[in-house]
Amino acid sequence: MDEAAGEVGSMKAPSKQHLIDPEICTGCFSCLAVCPESAIVEENRQLAIDPDLCRGCEACLDECPSGAIHNWRDVSGRSFFTLEEQFSWDRLP
Ligand code: SF4
Ligand code: SF4
Repeated sequence: MDEAAGEVGSMKAPSKQHLIDPEICTGCFSCLAVCPESAIVEENRQLAIDPDLCRGCEACLDECPSGAIHNWRDVSGRSFFTLEEQFSWDRLP
C-alpha cells in the first residue's frame, strides 16, 4: 500500500481524491460490486469515483486486477474533480 492510500484509509482526507486511471482500467467492473458506498460510477463502460460518496475505505483496491484504482491526487486548494471531468479524461491529470 502506498503512503497516500494509507492516509485515505485511516481517515477521510479531503485533500486527497481517489481516482481510476482510464489508461489501464480494463472495465472489468469488479470494483463496482464491492464498494459499500456505491461511489464507483459507470458511464459508457468508463469508471469514475464519486468524490461525494467515497470514504476511502479501500475495499475496492484488492479487487482491481490492473491497479487502475490505486490512484490518489492531491487536490489541496481546489475542488474535487467532478464525475463529468473524470469521464472526459483519456489519462489522469
Ligand atoms: S475506497 Fe471504499 S468508498 Fe471509495 S471507491 Fe473504494 S470501496 Fe468505494
Ligand atoms: S476493478 Fe480496476 S480494472 Fe476493473 S473496472 Fe474497477 S478500476 Fe477498472
